[in-house]
Amino acid sequence: MRCLYCKGSLEDRQTNFIVDLGECIMIIKNVPSQVCSQCGEVSYSNEVAKKLEAVVDRMRSMVRDVAVFEYSKIVA
Ligand SMILES: [Zn+2]
Repeated sequence: MRCLYCKGSLEDRQTNFIVDLGECIMIIKNVPSQVCSQCGEVSYSNEVAKKLEAVVDRMRSMVRDVAVFEYSKIVA
């Protein structure tokens, strides 16, 4: 797979996913992702993106200020 932006090559790497929901910020650590070795753009597989979305949806009512999760522990 190639980077959508610069056509650089993508590497499998774990990255931190940070989402700012306004009233709170969620950080999900060590998410499996593909990182462009050229421009650093991070992308997720459809499966991972769906799981991230589900986690954010599930946790947003419980989170205040800032919360940090470990991907492997929070994703079923
Ligand atoms: Zn790139």
